[in-house]
Amino acid sequence: MASFDVDRVRADFPLLARRERGKPLAYLDSAASAQKPRAVIDAVSRYYAEQHANIHRGVYRLSEEATALFEQSRAEVARYLRAPDPRGVVFVRGATEAINLVADSWGRAHLRSGDEILLTAMEHHANIVPWQIAAERAGARVVPCPVTPRGEVDLAAFARLLGPRTRMAAFTHVSNALGTVNPVAEMTRLAKAAGAAVLVDACQSASHFDVDVAALGCDFLCFSGHKVCGPTGIGVLWGRPELLDAMPPYQGGGDMIQRVDFAGTTYRAAPERFEAGTPHIAGAVGLAAALRYVAALRPAAHAHEQRLLALATERLRSIPGLRIVGEAPDKVAVVSFLLDGAHPHDVGTLLDADAVAVRVGHHCCMPLMSLLGIPGTVRASFAFYNTEEEVLRLEASLRRVRAMTA
Ligand code: PMP
Repeated sequence: MASFDVDRVRADFPLLARRERGKPLAYLDSAASAQKPRAVIDAVSRYYAEQHANIHRGVYRLSEEATALFEQSRAEVARYLRAPDPRGVVFVRGATEAINLVADSWGRAHLRSGDEILLTAMEHHANIVPWQIAAERAGARVVPCPVTPRGEVDLAAFARLLGPRTRMAAFTHVSNALGTVNPVAEMTRLAKAAGAAVLVDACQSASHFDVDVAALGCDFLCFSGHKVCGPTGIGVLWGRPELLDAMPPYQGGGDMIQRVDFAGTTYRAAPERFEAGTPHIAGAVGLAAALRYVAALRPAAHAHEQRLLALATERLRSIPGLRIVGEAPDKVAVVSFLLDGAHPHDVGTLLDADAVAVRVGHHCCMPLMSLLGIPGTVRASFAFYNTEEEVLRLEASLRRVRAMTA
């Protein structure tokens, strides 16, 4: 196994030097948003300082340079996803916008009364609500696939729920609330065999391991830049170019048109068709820098995260009254848990007093929490820049909380 020098990696992240109440900050909330390495901060500031102009329409050198940078970023995203054609990469604000785009545009073209959209009960609200809106408009129905008490998609139920009415199956690669890695290649195979289109929400996988759209066989895949150490406000929708080209526009405006006439307007092919207006050029440049940065650290970074997960699981299990929620054998470095007699919000607040930053609540997965019969959890999520010492600080802090609340 390649060695991984976490101290050297941490030195790339200025924010990790931050102190809270005189203690070093233990940032254990990377599933919500990852911190940014200097390479990303520098790429964004260099873009604004030296390379910025509006893209695509300029005939002057600077605009051509900015256009080339933007398009290079698109090509880098395509390479990151092992997508053969960069035309399948649409820059959006984030996963939320990507799913809304597909639900709205693909939904208009394909969803009809009586159709079904198969989701799983562990989806983020961003992969539920857009489908509910699209279903309501079309007279279609959203069908949730159950999740087992261990926090895994019930694959037999998934296969059973697929049928001739299933037009779309949309599911997450990795659960943001529990860390479960879903068998998405198998789920995609089943859904495609049933004749459904497939969207994979890779928000929580793209940040931990390599994602390969060709190997997955899905039709759409999305992720948010900010969870992969990139800027906020930029994300990716990847779609099969031929599918994207056949979809109606999502938003209208400049750059997405071939010709505008009051008698009727024609649209460009993908990806420009879905990129109306001035895009987040600096965001795309920063995202490409982020993907280069994280790709260069793998697979050692992933192995390091898995060691943190194993340590955190073992240490937290040894705390009396602590129950880990989500115990699938295949997980990313996320540990969700409950502490007997203590509300997750109180646990989070007490951890914050020790400068340990975790997230508490339903994690935008209310249906999953209802299914598990819990109001929410405390979630510690680790990135490759976290340390074993931070895991031990989490444990020590939880033992103090336990002593206070038991
Ligand atoms: N899907 C999953 C699995 C997520 O974890 C998130 C972010 N928590 C989203 C979708 C939505 O991402 P964003 O808020 O960046 O659009």
